Amino acid sequence: MIEKTQDQIETRLFINGKFQSSSDAKTFTITNPFTREPVADVFEASASDVDKAVAAAKAAFPAWRDLSPTDRGKYFHKLSALIREHEEEFAHLEAISSGKPVSKYIDANMAIETFSYFAEAGWTAQGSSSWNTPGHLNITSREPYGVVALIASWNAPLAYFAIKIAPALAAGNTVVLKTSEKAPLTCILGAKLLAEAGFPPGVVNVLSGYGQTTGAALSSHMGVRCLSFTGSTLTGRKIQASAAMSNMKTVHMELGGKTPAIVFPDADLEAAAAQTQFSVQILSGQTCIANSRIYVHESVAEKFLALFKSMFSSAVLGDPLDKETTLGPQTGKIQYERVKSYISAAEKESAVTLGGDANNGYFIKPTVFENMPEDAQIMKEEVFGPVVVINTFKTEDEVLQKANDSEYGLYASVFTKDIDRAVRVSKLLETGTVGVNCTSPLMPKDMPFGGFKGSGIGRESYLHSMESYLETKAVLIQIGS
Ligand code: NAD
Repeated sequence: MIEKTQDQIETRLFINGKFQSSSDAKTFTITNPFTREPVADVFEASASDVDKAVAAAKAAFPAWRDLSPTDRGKYFHKLSALIREHEEEFAHLEAISSGKPVSKYIDANMAIETFSYFAEAGWTAQGSSSWNTPGHLNITSREPYGVVALIASWNAPLAYFAIKIAPALAAGNTVVLKTSEKAPLTCILGAKLLAEAGFPPGVVNVLSGYGQTTGAALSSHMGVRCLSFTGSTLTGRKIQASAAMSNMKTVHMELGGKTPAIVFPDADLEAAAAQTQFSVQILSGQTCIANSRIYVHESVAEKFLALFKSMFSSAVLGDPLDKETTLGPQTGKIQYERVKSYISAAEKESAVTLGGDANNGYFIKPTVFENMPEDAQIMKEEVFGPVVVINTFKTEDEVLQKANDSEYGLYASVFTKDIDRAVRVSKLLETGTVGVNCTSPLMPKDMPFGGFKGSGIGRESYLHSMESYLETKAVLIQIGS
């Protein structure tokens, strides 16, 4: 059965292979953003629960590190199969707790593929050797850090569960994951399946809780040697400071974005409109890579705007559990109020030409602003809603300057049929990913994903994530004659 009553949903912390209440029995409530009814009361990990989880991960580390990659991978294969069996339950839980339409639920599939890939990838953790020092064979070895902390955002919880846990474990580390207080339920179900798959106790610990309590205790913990974070740039700064002030743990950061999409006059306008409107509509605009700034050449602006608006406004708002729904509510009251406040501030600078507040629960309609001043707040900050600014430009130099005038540098895209221009512009865009005649959410699994500037530190992907979870040691071997 997919649907569960409140008391059938697991809400406890997963520490040392067991579900348990928090030490002080504190809970917080998850509310359905569509019905605005409570879904579950979830236990909040205290600093002492964080200590317990780190201690469990530390105790489990030596035995886990010393398994062969194949033996670690066996658990991953079992877990992938279990996630497959529970795919609908994951989609249902995410819909009722964060408003993500079941028709758009891809997280379980991402998790299955990621655990399957990393089930084999442990073998790639390898160092190098050198005979360059006379009388020595010197080698480098790649080694796990020990206890790794993972702190994630709410917009794709099960996907982050896999994208972070799988490579960290494949590299031989043990982990403590703190899920987002806005969407912990699918990760708790993931923990239940981890236990069923037989992972040894302590190898993975999953905690729910707020950032300023559970998250802060984890990022300043002296027993954690490496931390991987996905969330806002603001929080990233705090975590980096706690890491530096505690034990200088290594940090990797996947942070916010303000993706520009540039549409030149020779572009396939229909394709550019279809892709850019999808980018800012998916997950109700609640993605780090949403192309929230579009620059269209003035000579084709009218045609592009007409195409864009007709496609963007065709989103079907409704119950996330209804398979016809393509646009769910914002994920909760805080997110909804935040998006509305950005819209109100932007309305003082320029007019809304499509959409706005739906005046229906936490829904925001697909919203377009045009001719926005480049220094307006909405051009600089993440809105995290289905809200886009479409401005025009005259020259390539001008649009590059505007696109790069951002503290963020996660993703950018350029639409043109001129290969020289595409290559020239791709080189000059200051972002970790550039799409040519394509845009976000496209993220090929073997391409490095991460940000320039304030959008992050490090890269994630099938081929790059293991790097983040491995130290390099030089071993100098003097050879006797
Ligand atoms: P957030 O920064 O508010 O929270 C992210 C996580 O950090 C949560 O688990 C939260 O509890 C925790 N946290 C908050 N304060 C903390 C503290 N002081 N110490 C330790 N942990 C703390 O972000 P969010 O609202 O969950 O997510 C939205 C943001 O995430 C957006 O900026 C978005 O662009 C970004 N994001 C980036 C990527 C990426 O891959 N680059 C992916 C998804 C989301």
